[in-house]
Amino acid sequence: MLPLRKNIAEMAGYVPGFQPEDEAGWIKLNTNENPYPPSPKVAEAIAAELANGGENLRKYPDAASRQARQDAAELYCVDPSWVIMANGSDELLNNLIRAFVGEGEEIAYVHPSYSYYATLAEIQGAKVRTFGLTEDFRIADFPEQYAGKLFFLTSPNAPLGFIFDNAYIEELAQRCAGVLVVDEAYVDFSDQTAMTLIKKYENIVVTRTFSKSYALAGMRLGLAVARPEVIAALDKIRDHYHLDRLALVAASAALKDQEYLELTVAKVRNVRDCFARELCKLGYQVIPSHGNYVFTSPPDGNGKRVYDALFDRKILVRYFSDPLLKHGLRISIGTREEMKSILTAMTEIG
Ligand SMILES: *Cc1c(COP(=O)(O)O)cnc(C)c1O
Repeated sequence: MLPLRKNIAEMAGYVPGFQPEDEAGWIKLNTNENPYPPSPKVAEAIAAELANGGENLRKYPDAASRQARQDAAELYCVDPSWVIMANGSDELLNNLIRAFVGEGEEIAYVHPSYSYYATLAEIQGAKVRTFGLTEDFRIADFPEQYAGKLFFLTSPNAPLGFIFDNAYIEELAQRCAGVLVVDEAYVDFSDQTAMTLIKKYENIVVTRTFSKSYALAGMRLGLAVARPEVIAALDKIRDHYHLDRLALVAASAALKDQEYLELTVAKVRNVRDCFARELCKLGYQVIPSHGNYVFTSPPDGNGKRVYDALFDRKILVRYFSDPLLKHGLRISIGTREEMKSILTAMTEIG
């Protein structure tokens, strides 16, 4: 027998959304990727970094990501000491657990939300607790003082799409003895953010990803904003060259092109809101969404039936067998044409 740690041997491992091997021929609306390309400035910056036969790649990247941190700090109006860049926001979620949660200590999150928090906590040997939701999308039975080390709040919620308002997030920050991590993976598709609360509450950390609104899932980029003590701790435990040269220039170019971001986000939101209205006309229930996806359920409450029928038509969406989610589907917002195709298919399927 290999001397694997018990928690690793016993854990199941995270199952990401299905990626077809042959992508051509599929309409892929299952992993919340952006249907539009990233800012053209990103490809330009990467091409420049690759100039002279890739001469720059001979040298290590800037281990401290100084330029990208500076660009993010300007955008969020904070000092660069309040920002850390990351190899996808998943790296931050992992390192937050490593920094704050010892073996046997507890993290918590809302179920349903992003179950990858549990996988990361299991690797660390931490305990995992989940809280449910009330009908009006508040956290059910949240204690007056939550004593766990980290509480992960996905806002906007994935897969459901609603968002927690800042008054409620402030209340949660006060009720958390540990750190409140607000995972704002989808917040660019919304009109609000908890970023404005980081100065007021010393236990709030906000994480962002470039995978959704910036259309850079393939580049693996994320960032966190928090007080310098938290950033310094995260800096200690990350791999020292965690971002390669191409990712670093891509991050800077993307952050600096806010005009492009606003344009693509506006298109996605527009298509999302039209799609939601059309689903309602089909008799589907739709939760108003602040992300680039909608959670919707057919009149018979059988998500699997619709998932299978869409799969047969080479349309991929996300179905969760979880009892709280199996009545519906999470459908990522694609191009207008893709959403037209899925609507036609769903009209046939019923
Ligand atoms: C996509 C997603 C992430 C991960 O983002 P990466 O930057 O691609 O690692 C984190 N949290 C939530 C809720 C997500 O949907």
